[in-house]
Amino acid sequence: MNTQKPLNAQKLAERLRKKSFDRQTKTIRMTKFPGSDQTTDLLLPPNCGGFGRVHHFRFKPDPKWITDPLPTHPACNYLGLPVTNVLLAQVFQLSACNFRCWYCFVDFSLLSANPKYSEMVTPKQLLQMMLDEKVNSQVIDLSGGQPELVPEYVLWFLEARKELGLEQSHFVWSDDNLSIDYTWRYLNEEEIVFMTQTPGFARVGCLKGYDAESFTFNTRADGKLFDRQIELLGRFVRAGFDQYGYITITTMNTDNLQSKMARLLDEIQNRVHPNFPLRIVPLRIFGFNANANRYNLQAEENQFQALEAWLAEMQRRFSATELATPITEVNIRR
Ligand code: SF4
Repeated sequence: MNTQKPLNAQKLAERLRKKSFDRQTKTIRMTKFPGSDQTTDLLLPPNCGGFGRVHHFRFKPDPKWITDPLPTHPACNYLGLPVTNVLLAQVFQLSACNFRCWYCFVDFSLLSANPKYSEMVTPKQLLQMMLDEKVNSQVIDLSGGQPELVPEYVLWFLEARKELGLEQSHFVWSDDNLSIDYTWRYLNEEEIVFMTQTPGFARVGCLKGYDAESFTFNTRADGKLFDRQIELLGRFVRAGFDQYGYITITTMNTDNLQSKMARLLDEIQNRVHPNFPLRIVPLRIFGFNANANRYNLQAEENQFQALEAWLAEMQRRFSATELATPITEVNIRR
C-alpha cells in the first residue's frame, strides 16, 4: 500500500510554472545534466553546453514487450526517411514536473526547477548550440519534466525552428503528462493555431495508469486527476494537434485487469476519438540508476499482466487490419 501523502499536483504546477520561464526575455528554465544521477544512465555524454542529451528511441525496447513506433514513425514519415530500429533524437528537458512518478528516469532534483541543475536559456540558443555542434539527429524531443507547465516552451521552440529555417529538416516531438490545461490558459488562439498547423510537429500525452488507483500509485497525485487526463487528451485532439498517446500500466493490483481495461478503452473511445486507442502505445517501464532508490520490482513485473489485458481488449475492439494500420495513418479527425 502506498502510504505517502498525495501530491497537490495543481498547486505544484502553478508554483513551478512561475519559476520556469520569463516572458520578457523569452527564456526557459532548462535542465543542465552534469552532476545529476540521470547523467550516469546516458549512453553518450550530455551535449549542447550540458543542456542536451542524445536519446536512442528503440522500436523494440524489450523482446518480451510490444513494438514502440513513437516517435520513430511520425518522425521518419515527416522527414522521408526509412523507419529505423534505433532513432537518435536530440532531447532538451524542462527542469520541472508536477508529478513524482516512482519509475521516472529523471532524478527528482531535476524536476523542481532547481537552479543547481538548471539555467534560463532561450529555445533559439539551444537550437543554435545544436547546429554549432552538428548533432547527428533531425529529431528534437522537447521533454521534461512536464513541458506543458510552460506551453511557451514548445511554442517558442517551434517559432525559433521556423526562424532558423529548420522546419523541413527537423521534426519536433513534445511530451505531456496530461495534468494541466495551460495551453488554453496561457496561449492565445493564434498561437495555438500556429502550433496545430506548423509542419513536422507532433505531441504525445502519457496516461499514467489505467484507472484512478493505478494513476495515484504511479504519480502520487489525486486519483480524480486520472479522469482529467482523458479529458485533456480529447481537448488536444479536438484542437487539431497531431496527438499520440503513451500509457504506463505498472500496478500493485492485478485484480480484474480485463474489465478495468475495457472501462478505460470505453472512456477513450467515447471522449477522445473511437480510433484513438490505436494511437496509444503501452510504455515498458525500466529500472535506471536515477530511479533505483524508489523502484518497485513487483509493479514492474505486473505490467506484463496488464499488457496482456490491454492487448486482449484491443483485439476485441479492432480488426486485424485496423490493428496493423501504421500509427501515423490512424485517423483521429471527425
Ligand atoms: S510525469 Fe514524467 S517527468 Fe514527471 S515525474 Fe512522471 S515520468 Fe517523471
